[in-house]
Amino acid sequence: MNRKTFLQSLAILPLTGTTMKLQALEKTVNAFSNTDKMPVLFLGHGSPMNAIEENEFVAGFRQVGKTIEKPRAILCISAHWETRGTRVTAMANPRTIHDFGGFPQELFAVQYPAPGDPDLARETKDIVSRTPVALDDQWGLDHGAWSVIKHMYPEADVPVIQMSLDYGKSPQQHFELAKELAALRKKGVLIVGSGNMVHNLRKVAWNRLNEVGFAYDWAAEASQKMKEHITTGDFRPLINYAAQGTAFQLAIPTPEHYLPLLYTLALKDDEDQIQLFNDQAVAGSLTMTSLKIS
Ligand code: ZN
Repeated sequence: MNRKTFLQSLAILPLTGTTMKLQALEKTVNAFSNTDKMPVLFLGHGSPMNAIEENEFVAGFRQVGKTIEKPRAILCISAHWETRGTRVTAMANPRTIHDFGGFPQELFAVQYPAPGDPDLARETKDIVSRTPVALDDQWGLDHGAWSVIKHMYPEADVPVIQMSLDYGKSPQQHFELAKELAALRKKGVLIVGSGNMVHNLRKVAWNRLNEVGFAYDWAAEASQKMKEHITTGDFRPLINYAAQGTAFQLAIPTPEHYLPLLYTLALKDDEDQIQLFNDQAVAGSLTMTSLKIS
């Protein structure tokens, strides 16, 4: 029930009259000033060139954006911001960071001028109790965030904040931290994890770079197992990814592109379903597989 429907329903309640009951009603109205529960997304971002190319993945980002009520703000956990300790961006106007090299000038020219949301940054810091969260005024929006969000909200009219990946935390600690963000879903905040489930740049087939659907055997095996665990809702082996054998070790040579997946899975509640989209391998050693949890 949204706020308007709720207020309308109040109008047909019998008048009971006691101060106590009025106070109780007032409390309920405040509780309903929250929004409906927002979905959570994991977006496989792949090459930075997806920011300016037109392809099936970009179409997938655009399409999923259309299925979601416009959020008050976005909280993005990007593979491309690792720090000591957990930080959230708290500036009013985050800069567009071009954190890559060797790409065409056209890509460096992209600006994504979405505002920040200092209030949301403080709110995020406040609701996370298990670990200290620092407010950051130095970062901005890295390409893990803007290269995908720009397709969903091309007008840059939804405020975006980022939360960093603390490289001192274990996968289990990341998962527990993410759970504490759940309340934001009912405050109009779209939480987006941006990374890639299978991501091994050392093994990229450079001669088959643009070949959609090409996966090495180990990449296909890891991807298949990951999806099985995701769809059955058994996240323990995913948190414990380092103990899942060679295919997982090759798929996750470093944790930063994988951890945003754990942030999104941690936010799934018992009522949520998980939909896969952009479920394709590229260049042998990457998967673009993305999730909508709602
Ligand atoms: Zn990346």
